[in-house]
Amino acid sequence: MLKKLFKRDNSKKTNSRTSKTSSGNPKAANAAAKTSVRGSKGKVAPTRNTNNAKPAHGKAAAKSTAPKSESKVDVKPWKLEEFKVEPAEGKTRFHDLMLPESVMRGIHELGFEYCSPIQAESLPAALRGRDTIGQAQTGTGKTAAFLLTIFNRILNVVPEERFASEPRALVVAPTRELALQIGKDAEGLAKYTGLNVVTVVGGMNYESQRQMLRDNVVDVLVATPGRLIDFMRSQDVYLDQVEVLVLDEADRMLDMGFIPDVKRIVRATPTKDIRQTLLYSATFNFDVRILIDQWTTNPHKVVIEPEQITTDRVDQKLYLVAETDKYSILERVLAEEKPERLIIFANRRDLTRNLCDKLNKNGHSAALLSGEVSQEKRIRTLERFREGRVNIMVATDVAGRGIHVDGVSHVINYTLPEDPEDYVHRIGRTGRAGAKGVSVSLVSEDDAFCLPDLEKYLGTKLELTQP
Ligand code: AMP
Repeated sequence: MLKKLFKRDNSKKTNSRTSKTSSGNPKAANAAAKTSVRGSKGKVAPTRNTNNAKPAHGKAAAKSTAPKSESKVDVKPWKLEEFKVEPAEGKTRFHDLMLPESVMRGIHELGFEYCSPIQAESLPAALRGRDTIGQAQTGTGKTAAFLLTIFNRILNVVPEERFASEPRALVVAPTRELALQIGKDAEGLAKYTGLNVVTVVGGMNYESQRQMLRDNVVDVLVATPGRLIDFMRSQDVYLDQVEVLVLDEADRMLDMGFIPDVKRIVRATPTKDIRQTLLYSATFNFDVRILIDQWTTNPHKVVIEPEQITTDRVDQKLYLVAETDKYSILERVLAEEKPERLIIFANRRDLTRNLCDKLNKNGHSAALLSGEVSQEKRIRTLERFREGRVNIMVATDVAGRGIHVDGVSHVINYTLPEDPEDYVHRIGRTGRAGAKGVSVSLVSEDDAFCLPDLEKYLGTKLELTQP
């Protein structure tokens, strides 16, 4: 169904925003009511300058919340009874969470059955509107945990009037790869909801992203900080209608120096007593705790230990090798292990490039994923890897952040990372979603100095063997 877009009447806009609940979720209703009260006090809404040089469609409002993607999706009838999962002791089914049926259909299609620990622990409170802080890494299912919270909330509260450029939920993530992955996960889970998910990241076509914001009602916006600030500056996006704010990998945003930008972004959203805030971080150091105090209200804290990822499902092998023998040992590992789908991590871009070239020359099918590869190409590479057209991906840590490909059977650390968190993150690319995985680390005299810190971080002794 096509949405009717019309010019914004600014004077009407702030006063007319009212919401109603379709499901009787009292917390959501309450928050929605607060939003409209705030609007009627005239405190919010940055001035929309109707005389600026922007094209008229940028000031368009959409009166309807009609599903944007309805025409694109095959809407065969579907009944919840088709999604059968037996109750199991100690496990939470998605059926137990009273999620909207359209969301259940997306979950069913993705093949999820039971909640992962972070989902089981965080969703009951988050779905009631409680702020949540999650100490968890990628690989734990945290993305679906926050996305389901968002979808549940915005599907249960139906605003009477919607305007372009005004997302109802915002997810901020530190890297493009992570943001694109979250956007993709969101589109998958929201496939049958009719919600419109827009992802904006740096390094990709600015104008088309701008149009996606200005020409449509945006339900969920996923963004990296820099590009989002650009669109805020150019008044292509307004954050004063954000009901749910997600800050993913907060510690990494601190490390990467994004916090001043993120502070600006958070300030542009409704105050913390009005919005729901979900914040995730692999570590909860002093700086992260300060942000939590500033941005959340009485949050429910969920801790998922990284060790669970590393030790439970990944068979870790560490081979002691001479630096000069690494490539020949790698070939041997490939011949012996016959990995179905493999990611090789190395610390430097030039090393990943050389390694990738060498593998291809020696008859393997490898692709490069490093910072020197353009964003568009990286996305195509990931697609090829997902579809199995190449079975080896050679990546640096930065490019490897946020890679979510199921069925990665092996991870090889061609060099050990200096940061133990990166090790956990790397090997967490395998052993995902309940599958078993294998990691092989080639440890030379140059890598050995990383071992004490790594063992301390993991809390276990790592056994080095001869290959
Ligand atoms: P994340 O930690 O969000 O990166 O998710 C890790 C992977 O687990 C992703 O590929 C998800 O699609 C998958 N996943 C998330 N939740 C579940 C679940 N409840 N059951 C099975 N797979 C899941």
